[in-house]
Amino acid sequence: MKHLSVLVLDDDDFILDVTQAMLENMGVGHIETHLSARSALKALDMSNPLQIILCDLNMPDMDGVEVIRYLGQQGFIGGVVVLSGEDIRTQHSVVAMGRAHHLNLLGALNKPINTDELLAMLENIKASISKKPYALTLLSVDELRAGLTTDAVVPYFQPQVDTLTGKVIGVEALARWQHKQLGIIGPAAFIAVAEDNDLITPLTYQMITQSLKQWRIWNDEGIDLSLSINVSMHSLNDFSFPDWLVAEAQAFAVPLDRLVMELTESHLSDNILVTSDVLTRLCLKRIRLSVDDFGTAYSNMEKLQQLPFSELKIDRAFVHGADHNPHSHSILKHSIELAKSLNMITVAEGVEDQPDWDCVAKQGCDLIQGYFVSRPMPGDQIVQWAKNWEADFKK
Ligand code: C2E
Ligand code: CA
Ligand code: CA
Repeated sequence: MKHLSVLVLDDDDFILDVTQAMLENMGVGHIETHLSARSALKALDMSNPLQIILCDLNMPDMDGVEVIRYLGQQGFIGGVVVLSGEDIRTQHSVVAMGRAHHLNLLGALNKPINTDELLAMLENIKASISKKPYALTLLSVDELRAGLTTDAVVPYFQPQVDTLTGKVIGVEALARWQHKQLGIIGPAAFIAVAEDNDLITPLTYQMITQSLKQWRIWNDEGIDLSLSINVSMHSLNDFSFPDWLVAEAQAFAVPLDRLVMELTESHLSDNILVTSDVLTRLCLKRIRLSVDDFGTAYSNMEKLQQLPFSELKIDRAFVHGADHNPHSHSILKHSIELAKSLNMITVAEGVEDQPDWDCVAKQGCDLIQGYFVSRPMPGDQIVQWAKNWEADFKK
């Protein structure tokens, strides 16, 4: 507990005194109390994951809901515990709102506070920090903008293997953020922030350049993989994208038919005119197009037929556990049939265990991607990994 820093916010002096005494008894290293939201928010360190705020819901100057919204907007990465005398439903909706803001909301405590419950919650934050570090952290726009000038974004690569032969066919590049204090952070922390603030295109371009550079290194080491990149619709609203991509691929001597652009199904309808122009040109240059997260939106078949896609990636929601979930199973089966009827390659995402593998293999899916094969890894590990995987697969 001595590493934790807890800030208590309540407009009642008595509650502050009692809570402070409890926290001292638990051995919490740093304790601060505040009677007003404004002074508390000033004192918070937004980037300290070990800081926890215990926040009253009913306060005169700024209520708890406003405090939570503010913390969400500022990307507070510590823990939040709601204190209240309100009923359970109100508490639940506040907790849900906090989570929707990507806050690490640990839960709600009734007043008067019960020592054991408070202790359990603090233990919980310690556990959540070591188990799933900073999963719910959002980068701030400033951090993102600054990071894009210093190569903070790096691609990790997740293999895709042939369902029948096990051969490593390609990799998908997945963005990671190298954070000075927090280490490697996943895309949930920054892709949406980038999309909302016109930073997704520079991010995509960096991902592409770095991935092409890595492809060249792999190829020089003797392996020839297809390279899938996630492209946001925002970047496709730019007519110059195909020319830029071609020039960049040529700079690293990467054949264009090794490239696959993954587009999320739910975004396909946005600005269809520009998009189909850009997609058609990519296709004419032999760059392949893939529909990502298939099954999660109500795809319209017409569009799938009109746009020049050559690959369909079935969302992991319909893959993992499909052998014992009739709903997933049916979507999986029909998606594969649809793809085959349109001459598209199928990739199953989220294959986590042998039953998943067997199930998608039985349906005739072409490629497999998932934790059962491998988690995403840094580019310099791919060659050795592929050798080991293929040797093990033959056994
Ligand atoms: P996605 O394109 O659907 O990528 C697959 C995600 O599923 C990856 O998460 C991957 O690590 C995860 N995954 C792979 N196998 C399994 C499995 O067996 N089980 C489970 N539970 N998960 C698995 P990740 O890397 O966190 O990426 C999340 C999403 O962020 C991606 O989903 C993609 O939509 C977005 N993203 C990642 N990199 C980029 C990028 O460079 N640009 C854009 N625009 N979006 C990106
Ligand atoms: Ca993808
Ligand atoms: Ca996907």
